[in-house]
Amino acid sequence: MQRKLAAGNWKMNGTVADLSMIDSLNSAHPNPGCEILLCPPAHLLSQAVAQARTGPVRIGAQNCHSADTGAYTGDISAPMLADVGASHVIVGHSERREGYGETDADVKDKAAAAQAAGLTPILCIGESLEQREAGAALDVIRAQLAGSVPGNNTAETLVVAYEPIWAIGTGKIPTMEEIAQVHAVLRADLIDALGTTGATVPLLYGGSVKPGNAAGIFALDHVNGALVGGASLTAQDFSPIIEALS
Ligand code: PGA
Repeated sequence: MQRKLAAGNWKMNGTVADLSMIDSLNSAHPNPGCEILLCPPAHLLSQAVAQARTGPVRIGAQNCHSADTGAYTGDISAPMLADVGASHVIVGHSERREGYGETDADVKDKAAAAQAAGLTPILCIGESLEQREAGAALDVIRAQLAGSVPGNNTAETLVVAYEPIWAIGTGKIPTMEEIAQVHAVLRADLIDALGTTGATVPLLYGGSVKPGNAAGIFALDHVNGALVGGASLTAQDFSPIIEALS
């Protein structure tokens, strides 16, 4: 049985005032049937953790460096994120892979650093539109998975998110068959690589998940939750997604 996770990625959005959403979610979902995670930008993490303390909402970060400390201006390490009370960190988001040239090897190092600091990495993989149209989606995703999952994992210390790049922020999603196919392949590869642990690692879908399409996506085999961008910015949008997963 896999844990279910509704994770919100605020990206570069949000102010201190927006953290009131944590209170709304905590009171709307006092006993949720899934884990709830919000990943605000780094400057809000401490306050978000303090605010989340009274309910089920947990707080994660959007990126980390693979080193613990050092001369890396502007970066934040996994132990620093753990120090302020984050529980998870997103690694390998396509916006980092594309915008900052992060490779599978970089993502693997970040995921390992996160695990060593006691954080659960949410490791993102996904194909571009060109790759899907060329029929290469499965090969690309499997190579990313093989190249970026670190060596030592338990079901508690790894989450994998399938995020087709062309579905992120576009309002387009793959067909239900396409999502089901990718998730089945990822599950099989995780079991091959990690044995019984691979059967229990939560597999999230991400890319234009909305209140209107969440239930259909969550009904698919091997979909254990979602990584949600735009629709995680307000309780009004995120709550029904949590409800659909619970
Ligand atoms: P979206 O973003 O829900 O706005 O498409 C998802 C993501 O990038 O994680």
